[in-house]
Amino acid sequence: MTEPFHPPGTPEYAAFPLAATGGPAGVFTARSVADVVRAVAAARRAGRPLRLVTTGLALGRTAPLTGSLLLRPLIDAPVQVNPDARTARVPAGRTWGDVLPAALRHGLTAVHPASAAVGVIGYLLGGGVSFYGRRFGLASNMVRSLTVVLAGGEVVEARATNRPDLLWALRGGGGGIGVVVAAEIELVPMPAVVTGTAWWDLADAPRLGPLWQAWARAAPLEITTSLRLLTRAGRRVLALDGVAVAPDRHVVDEMMSRLPAPLANTWAPAMLPLTHPDRPRPAASQSDSALIRELDEEGWARLQEAALTVELRQLGGALATPATSGGALDRLAAPLLYYAAGAAEELRAVRSALGPFLTGYTAPTFVDHFDLPQRTLDDYTRVRVERIRHDADPAGLFAGDIDAVRK
Ligand SMILES: Cc1cc2nc3c(=O)[nH]c(=O)nc-3n(C[C@H](O)[C@H](O)[C@H](O)COP(=O)(O)OP(=O)(O)OC[C@H]3O[C@@H](n4cnc5c(N)ncnc54)[C@H](O)[C@@H]3O)c2cc1C
Repeated sequence: MTEPFHPPGTPEYAAFPLAATGGPAGVFTARSVADVVRAVAAARRAGRPLRLVTTGLALGRTAPLTGSLLLRPLIDAPVQVNPDARTARVPAGRTWGDVLPAALRHGLTAVHPASAAVGVIGYLLGGGVSFYGRRFGLASNMVRSLTVVLAGGEVVEARATNRPDLLWALRGGGGGIGVVVAAEIELVPMPAVVTGTAWWDLADAPRLGPLWQAWARAAPLEITTSLRLLTRAGRRVLALDGVAVAPDRHVVDEMMSRLPAPLANTWAPAMLPLTHPDRPRPAASQSDSALIRELDEEGWARLQEAALTVELRQLGGALATPATSGGALDRLAAPLLYYAAGAAEELRAVRSALGPFLTGYTAPTFVDHFDLPQRTLDDYTRVRVERIRHDADPAGLFAGDIDAVRK
């Protein structure tokens, strides 16, 4: 067998958290950079695809694991916060739940996702859409350096002054370049935030949708929200949640003053805004995502009829602004991100009804299934990434981890 990978039938394979998900030929948890270099060399010698995983939350986004060697980099090193430089060095394998408390001890935070369970590296490489997004932009723009083990075994620290091509392509380029063993990210002073959820009955949807959209169009950068349609206790309701980077409720009250009176409203000052502890995805359902234009009345009506869990994330602001030092994906050029979960047939019907509003693109971290439309880069950028990827990994050792390009 391919040392150091554990084959099926061994206790290590049976105990590996994700081995059951699609039959890899071997699994290995790397605890050091030297372990990663050893694993890369072994996969190269074996001529098998090397696949990477941290939490496995996005396992469905890339090709099935069958026949591959599955590597989980879980580097045994602490998260290091430098309060003077306002940066954190995060070893591979960490989740945001490991980083945020370490940053908070210094009065700092990161442009993090809505759940602490999300892996840091997977989120950063996929762009990273935060509820701080309209204020600070995509999380991958906050990455200063990535230490990566390439297919040939070299360990490279990609930063603005060393291999900027790799740093650029790794950030939102669609994966398949190398094993990231550490990331250095910029932190921001922990702001005072207001967060919570306001609830409405479905009967308010025809008024609420257009009013929220009109507010969202000109909203201050300090606030990022998401409007969701979901079923609670057998009843269809709408929920408006998000985060306002603000010392008081002023921005939130201004938003609420433009909307119909809610059934309930929990928006209040808070410490750590982890708004969606889980994705709005009922068990055993499919999901879909797309960057969309503003909906007209008919578009809203179609969404309200759907028996799906639907989320519309407010984009714009810094999320739509090009970042001079950003990566291959440095912004999301649409006002709204649509994410829905439910029966596959219903998802297809809604996608077709949303046809006039689709931009043809989506956000990488919102794609859950390999066979769904998941175009995230324009052709020029994609080809540039492909060249860099080919130089870094000419034999395609990491090719199985490349996000599909489907329109
Ligand atoms: C509850 C929940 C809430 C979420 N909230 C948000 C949100 O607010 N905003 C948002 O943008 N996304 C959100 N996501 C999506 C999440 O950001 C993506 O699923 C992300 O890709 C997960 O990364 P991971 O490392 O945890 O997953 P994994 O499945 O372990 O990894 C994802 C991909 O990243 C690559 N990868 C992982 N580790 C490495 C490494 N060390 N080196 C190189 N490549 C690596 C692999 O190619 C892998 O296929 C959420 C997901 C869930 C389940």
